[in-house]
Amino acid sequence: TPKKSIKEGKAEICLTTEKVFYNPVQEFNRDLSIAVLSVFTDDYKTEKLAKAELKKKSKNIGQEEFISEDCNNSEIEITILEALSATGLRSIRYAKEVPNITKIVANDFSIQAVETIKANVVHNQVEKLIETNHDDACMLMYKHKHPTKRFSAIDLDPYGCPSIFLDAAVQSVSDGGLLLVTATDMAVLAGNSPETCYCKYGAVSLKTKCCHEMALRILLQCIEQHANRYSRYIVPLLSISADFYIRVFVKIYSGAIHCKKTTSKLSMVYHCVGCDHITLQPLGGFKPNPSEKNPDQMKAYLPAAPTVGEYCVHCNQRHHLGGPIWSAPIHDEAFVSRVLMHVQGHPELFGTAKRIEGVLSMVREELHSVPLYYTLDKMFGRVHLETMPMMVMRSAIMNAGYKVSYSHASKMSIKTTAPAQLIWDIVRTW
Ligand code: SAM
Repeated sequence: TPKKSIKEGKAEICLTTEKVFYNPVQEFNRDLSIAVLSVFTDDYKTEKLAKAELKKKSKNIGQEEFISEDCNNSEIEITILEALSATGLRSIRYAKEVPNITKIVANDFSIQAVETIKANVVHNQVEKLIETNHDDACMLMYKHKHPTKRFSAIDLDPYGCPSIFLDAAVQSVSDGGLLLVTATDMAVLAGNSPETCYCKYGAVSLKTKCCHEMALRILLQCIEQHANRYSRYIVPLLSISADFYIRVFVKIYSGAIHCKKTTSKLSMVYHCVGCDHITLQPLGGFKPNPSEKNPDQMKAYLPAAPTVGEYCVHCNQRHHLGGPIWSAPIHDEAFVSRVLMHVQGHPELFGTAKRIEGVLSMVREELHSVPLYYTLDKMFGRVHLETMPMMVMRSAIMNAGYKVSYSHASKMSIKTTAPAQLIWDIVRTW
């Protein structure tokens, strides 16, 4: 007899042992993933069909050959791997709630988990869509790294740090496919253990006011580094900090030329121990393209000159050095709008619809070209003043002609295009 029966979305799962992991708090994570995958699978199908059509035209081949080469029974295959599945709840929800999927592999290396997944798959009558697999996640992904065997999407939802799975994952997602990654080791990512962060993610974390966004950017650079080894690169669609974890949704593409642009998407982080100010130092640009006519583009190609010194220009205190972090945009605004519209159009499908709407509305408003943020309370705390109301600060920045937004990662956050000097001037006038 089942010990516990759990309903979430359209799935109902039974838990017969406590040895298999289930966390109700992650409903938001699962709901959001379903919304993202619903929009992604739609795009993916359209893109693949268009690509196949183009190929067909360019090769001028017959319909029969076209179908056997690119499609299965004239349909595009959309396959998903949940590499660390536990109860199978997430996979079952994907099977029942995400359109267009042709196959899901629900994998776990724990035999109790696999038994639980199998029973839950039968209980939910999704045997046709879900294949259960008992293997080490990396071993399974390595078996799928050949371009004809790759998955359209891979979901990594481990305990703690996901980095040990990234080498296999970045090779086993198809071109234009989606990688969904959770990290729950927030203490490491948020600067409590910068050395451990370097060992796990290849970047030094910092204890700063904007540590949650910095955590997202450390994870993104880590995925990019892994992808670059195989001439692949990432395009972030959505990056979320929530509760005790972070979750990123990135597309993976192949292209050695694009990988050369990676250094211009990464920066070292100089954090002042005195005034908490952060300055980014881009790792560089990529080689000037002599045929480039557009002067702005030309500028973007030039390697960045070192500009940040040992001491902070605002208070003359020392810098701590962190990073590298991903300093390019962490969301795709158009994609986020479509996910938001999807959730607003079907709120009955998501137990956490209101929260998703709130978070995605904030994400959409974020200044995408401005990495990291100030936090109002910490800034005023530094100068031992009572905190200015957020509206006053935001109005002052806007009146000076600069843009300002919140970050979804912190209630007290201020993202702005204004120079630091202006922000400190506003603080001084308070
Ligand atoms: N995705 C699940 C959900 O939404 O409910 C939760 C997954 S749980 C946090 C992590 C799972 O990964 C555990 O069931 C554990 O047995 C499994 N796991 C850990 N390391 C693994 C590995 N190397 N290969 C396969 N499974 C692994």
